[in-house]
Amino acid sequence: MLLVEDEASIADLVRLYLERDGFRVVWRTDGPSGLAAVDAERPRLVLLDLMLPGMDGFEVTRALRQRGGRVPIIVVTAREEEADRVLGLELGADDYVTKPFSPRELVARVKAVLRRAEPEPEAGPEAPLHLGSLTVDPARHEVVFEGRPVQLTAREFELLSYLVRNRGLVLTRDQILERVWGYSFPADTRTVDVHIRQLRSKLGDHAPILTIRGVGYKADDRTPGAGSGGG
Ligand code: CA
Repeated sequence: MLLVEDEASIADLVRLYLERDGFRVVWRTDGPSGLAAVDAERPRLVLLDLMLPGMDGFEVTRALRQRGGRVPIIVVTAREEEADRVLGLELGADDYVTKPFSPRELVARVKAVLRRAEPEPEAGPEAPLHLGSLTVDPARHEVVFEGRPVQLTAREFELLSYLVRNRGLVLTRDQILERVWGYSFPADTRTVDVHIRQLRSKLGDHAPILTIRGVGYKADDRTPGAGSGGG
């Protein structure tokens, strides 16, 4: 893991937490030497401060991506402006953390980005999942409901797959965040509700996703005419 950060106190804290979690951390304090270290060290991930001597974090990100480098980048920034975050992500950063951050949050984000970047090898394509008239085909990334194909975003697809794999079980918002988003912070649980709402609107009236009040959600077959009404 490569850390490019000019403030020693922050660098020490980040290294402490990452090394405690078993990551090897190479530290550079300016843009040009950070860029050079990507070639020399081949890190699995780059933690990149935005305000750096030599080249700022935007320039480093742009340079890495222009050369075709695909190493995951997490931008660490004191800037809170939405525009900075958006620019960082548009230039090719994978995630961002705003200072002051909690080291535990940083480590969680590092692991989540690595998990996305380095998916675990699978035994083979997963067989299609069925629930009533819903079919979710992970290998083809296709969803069919009541005989009709349904277009989902990548995140909605993961969310629906997770629910259907665990059909009949009540899943809490925290569990869903942890498994589908890769991390769980209490403030983010609304994200789950928003994506569930999207899924339901795309699947229509008979969407087999039940709200378990005060707990979370579960996938269950709701045969038309069962009489539970809309949702
Ligand atoms: Ca700085």
